[in-house]
Amino acid sequence: MAIYSVMPFSLWKESKRHVRGITGRECAICGKQVREPFKHIAIVIDGGARWASAEDVDSAAPSGYMGEFPIGANCHKKYQLAEG
Ligand SMILES: [Zn+2]
Repeated sequence: MAIYSVMPFSLWKESKRHVRGITGRECAICGKQVREPFKHIAIVIDGGARWASAEDVDSAAPSGYMGEFPIGANCHKKYQLAEG
């Protein structure tokens, strides 16, 4: 599980692709559609305010859990902080 240096959904405003609603295939950073199979997955908690590591989710049900989202290859390269 990777953690990123930008907030979840921080670039969604710049993308118009999510206006039809969340399908679960949007990159959690930029909102562009990610092709399956997803190489990079991130967990979003605090109602979209924070990334979570796999350990966070294992230890307790995090507040504001929003589920797992794919991360596009470009965003992954650009914003990844660490592998967890
Ligand atoms: Zn992206």
